[in-house]
Amino acid sequence: MSESWNKRTRLVHGGTRRSQYNEVSEAIFLTQGFVYDSAESAAARFIKAGDDEFIYARYGNPTVAMFEERIASLEGAEDAFATASGMAAVSGALTSMLRAGDHVVSARALFGSCLYVLEEILTRFGVEVSFVDGTDLDQWRAAIRPGTRAVFFETIANPTLDVVDIRAVAGLAHAVGAVVIVDNVFATPVFSNAIGQGADVVVYSATKHIDGQGRTLGGVVLGSRDYIRGTLEPYMKHTGGSMSPFTAWVMLKGLETIDLRVRAQSESALAIAEALQGDPRLARVIYPGHASHPQHDLVRAQMGQGGTVLALDLKGGQEAAFRFLNALEIVLISNNLGDAKSIATHPATTTHQRLPAEQKAALGITPGLVRLSVGLEDVGDLLADLGRALDVAG
Ligand SMILES: *Cc1c(COP(=O)(O)O)cnc(C)c1O
Repeated sequence: MSESWNKRTRLVHGGTRRSQYNEVSEAIFLTQGFVYDSAESAAARFIKAGDDEFIYARYGNPTVAMFEERIASLEGAEDAFATASGMAAVSGALTSMLRAGDHVVSARALFGSCLYVLEEILTRFGVEVSFVDGTDLDQWRAAIRPGTRAVFFETIANPTLDVVDIRAVAGLAHAVGAVVIVDNVFATPVFSNAIGQGADVVVYSATKHIDGQGRTLGGVVLGSRDYIRGTLEPYMKHTGGSMSPFTAWVMLKGLETIDLRVRAQSESALAIAEALQGDPRLARVIYPGHASHPQHDLVRAQMGQGGTVLALDLKGGQEAAFRFLNALEIVLISNNLGDAKSIATHPATTTHQRLPAEQKAALGITPGLVRLSVGLEDVGDLLADLGRALDVAG
């Protein structure tokens, strides 16, 4: 791979390793192990494996290495480690670097499982976690203290699409030597410049836009070579959350088209936000890429475009939201996002059901809120489907 290649070229050719057959499409090395020429070479490889030397698929595999190299090159990270799911990536990124007595500051608005890891698991092992409103810099400033080991946040929070200022929070964290770990799913690798803006570690659920066609679970952690190979890899390879070679192949193919897909989906999301803005049946239309978003300037500076997800708040509450969802014909009721198929979710009764009512209210997860992940369908067809379902919802 050439350093001068631009992103679209890296997405197609980055990280490619060809076997002796010189295949065009990347090979799936569906093997758990590798044969050594001699007992001596096995012993040598266990001391130090070279770039093209593998030991066991839990430690690394050629197809997985291609995916890691390709996504690292897209993100501008020194290195990457691929994981079995997005949650294996989030929990591994945190747990591998923390120990009892450490202090972490986290944004409160998180994907349910991320909140569980921070609130229920890390604290069980003696890590102290302070939660803040991720959009309020004064709260970050008050909570980060000398000795804070890490800060964690979703750069765009699920499902209310609040945006955290990466550069500002990283400045506060770095002033006390804390590591900045961001879950960047909603920003997508296409619109991300998180490392350039101060993130030390970037985590993706590859299940979302990287696969982009709803087939397999996966995740990836990106960061410095020291952190990835020195801190994360030993933890992941011994605790078992590595990505399978088949999954890595699906994700490699996903990266080839991610730029085209995510840009097209974001364009449609913006068109839908514009068309529905001011609709009398909606209390709110939330889309980071629309001028009405309270942090629109930050979105422009941080990622350029608004991404593939928007949120609609129906005035008629849960009953109207359910009537709306049940009337959709093209948009599916499901809970993935970033998929080629448009998907609608009712967070209050599904993904965020576990939260007590006060916490839902504090996070803006109202009974009428519907999260809409915009797919690759014709945007005119999507607008017709949404408009008809809003008519039914009343
Ligand atoms: C989906 C998601 C995860 C978890 O990813 P999985 O691949 O489902 O394990 C973590 N964070 C965010 C923001 C997500 O959307």
